[in-house]
Amino acid sequence: MVYIIVDLEATCWEKRENRPNEIIEIGAVAINDEGEWIDEFDIFVKPLLHPVLSDFCIQLTSITQEMVDKASNFPQALQEFQNWITNCGSTEEDYVLCSWGHYDRVQFKNDCVLHGLDAAWLASHISLKHQYADLKNLRRPIGMKKALQREGLKLDGTHHRGLDDAQNIAKIFLNYFEFWTMP
Ligand code: AMP
Ligand code: MG
Repeated sequence: MVYIIVDLEATCWEKRENRPNEIIEIGAVAINDEGEWIDEFDIFVKPLLHPVLSDFCIQLTSITQEMVDKASNFPQALQEFQNWITNCGSTEEDYVLCSWGHYDRVQFKNDCVLHGLDAAWLASHISLKHQYADLKNLRRPIGMKKALQREGLKLDGTHHRGLDDAQNIAKIFLNYFEFWTMP
């Protein structure tokens, strides 16, 4: 089994209106059965529907217009991500996508639908955010930043950047490695 701790960044606006969000960064950490940090992945994605990032989005994520202009489109980036997942585990091994909340799976699904791609690869997923709330008997799920504080862990890197967020979530994941419920 390979655990893929994944975090997405997406286009966003201060006032949402009716614009669909699209992935602009995929960050991930792969952890093996032994709880070893085996590899990391990071890629920018050029959005199709709204290729110009809002100032709000640039400020939130620190992702610049140039980074997405130079990036691959979603189908290519997803292919690279899927190849990386395959390379992280030996061929017959399974993987579980783990993210802080359900948002990342839903966003992946939406982008797959937008580009006419198969979404079956998303079937094995858990929300660490919801499981963390259960493990800790919290009344409701809390954000990653709060969870890091609770754990006495530092928020390393830049919040709202895919790989940095994934690395920070992975630290929480490893603190409770034995306790997550797999699908
Ligand atoms: P995160 O993993 O917390 O960085 O959030 C992932 C994506 O959700 C961001 O790239 C934004 O598209 C969106 N998002 C997160 N926080 C906000 C916010 N405060 N306002 C609007 N969109 C947000
Ligand atoms: Mg993030």
